Amino acid sequence: MIAHDGMFIDGSWRPAAGGGTIEVVNPADEQVIGTVPAGTAEDVDAAVRAARAALPGWAATPPARRAEYLTALRDALAARQEEIAATVVAELGSPIGFAQRVHAGLPVAVASSYAELALNHPFEEQIGTSTVLHEPVGVVGAITPWNYPLHQIVAKVAPAFAAGCTVVLKPAEDTPLTAQLFAECVAAAELPAGVFNLVTGLGHVAGQALAEHEGVDLVSFTGSTAVGRKIGAIAGGAVKRVALELGGKSANVILPGADLERAVRANVADVCRNAGQSCNALTRMLVPADRYDEAVAIAAEAVAEFVPGDPADPATRIGPVVNAAQRDRVRGYIRRGVEEGARLAAGGPEAPEGREKGYYVRPTVFADVTPSMTIAREEIFGPVLSVIRYEDEEEALRIANDSVYGLAGAVWAADEDTAVAFARRMETGQVDINGGRFNLLAPFGGYKQSGVGREMGRHGLAEYLQTKSLQF
Ligand code: NAP
Ligand code: MG
Repeated sequence: MIAHDGMFIDGSWRPAAGGGTIEVVNPADEQVIGTVPAGTAEDVDAAVRAARAALPGWAATPPARRAEYLTALRDALAARQEEIAATVVAELGSPIGFAQRVHAGLPVAVASSYAELALNHPFEEQIGTSTVLHEPVGVVGAITPWNYPLHQIVAKVAPAFAAGCTVVLKPAEDTPLTAQLFAECVAAAELPAGVFNLVTGLGHVAGQALAEHEGVDLVSFTGSTAVGRKIGAIAGGAVKRVALELGGKSANVILPGADLERAVRANVADVCRNAGQSCNALTRMLVPADRYDEAVAIAAEAVAEFVPGDPADPATRIGPVVNAAQRDRVRGYIRRGVEEGARLAAGGPEAPEGREKGYYVRPTVFADVTPSMTIAREEIFGPVLSVIRYEDEEEALRIANDSVYGLAGAVWAADEDTAVAFARRMETGQVDINGGRFNLLAPFGGYKQSGVGREMGRHGLAEYLQTKSLQF
């Protein structure tokens, strides 16, 4: 039981202004594993003041020096990787192997990439007779979700630091222990007081106060489209910058001639990754009609290898989802799929065998899904794959683009040129070609209602910069 009762404000740990606490629950066994303070508007105000006070000094710190701090932060994250992984297992329910590789490992690489970008980014450019300065936007209010608890923090905080911005972070209420570990790493890296501040708390209290605070220049939010819409409205009203990384309903398009076995198996693994709780999950699989039955059979067979289990066991490939509400939501969508006429090829709405305790759901494959069904349109955020048939490429494209979202996608074809030609016509921010891998320097972000702005690499850095042109 961890009772870490501090919030990291202005370089030190201090108790919350109010006395409220939030319980942190292990989704695998429903036990309370810790508590953190429930911050209020008063705490947010103290944190924003600290960030504002630290801004001039940090913005004036040479980028090469900021790069050194980012390297120290990277080293601190690397030194505590095992502890971070164990914490993500305990509060999110991620399988330990995935937690080590991705939840703990990826942020180290991302921090490293921003140390390098701080060093190499041209913070001054010449355009004709003007010298254009790239200056920090100012104080950043970062609001993050629970699904990749550390990655989503680092994907905002590292570029903000590289740019010369100071930060107030409000992490998700389900995964605050990982955020506290991150703050300890910032402290270990000896960043100047106030450059980073952590306020744990509830979204509609601390999160909302942060988004509304007039001392915040940029709100960077990752989470649901519903909350993103609210934050966008608040930021628009105050004429402050906003970046929104929201949901998705990404299509995996398997074109005729593709390696069907490989494409389907990769899709099943992708949908089971992080128990389906990935904004870029490929939740719609589009298959040519003449290979449809074959594809469904492969998917049903492949998903059987994902047996829900204890996330602390290294053999487990899929753990529980994050909380009871999420479990009920996913099961509700599975029931809805059946009601609307889709056919269960694997899985279903019941608890997995022997997993009545814990927030487990059955990895599910739906066949005979039509594009108008709820399960083909809404983000489920659980291990549920909808297999949709198409007659020709034009229909495949229509179905792929028939979504309010546009975050990710994938195309499989017999050759790369065919896949790329199709990808060019997709309305989405990322497309994996024939099983292409995640690239942490590539811009990540959405078309349409999947968001505003980009994260990762130099495009992610640009979000935290504004230009000033000097004319000669
Ligand atoms: P959420 O409510 O959008 O949470 C994201 C973050 O925003 C959390 O830190 C949350 O705090 C905070 N927040 C909530 N209400 C707020 C408000 N009024 N003002 C400011 N901040 C606020 O997402 P969720 O409820 O955890 O998950 C719901 C659904 O969102 C999921 O089922 C999934 O479909 C989607 N989702 C998408 C992503 C993604 O990466 N695109 C990530 C997570 C969830 P609390 O933690 O206290 O609520
Ligand atoms: Mg919420």
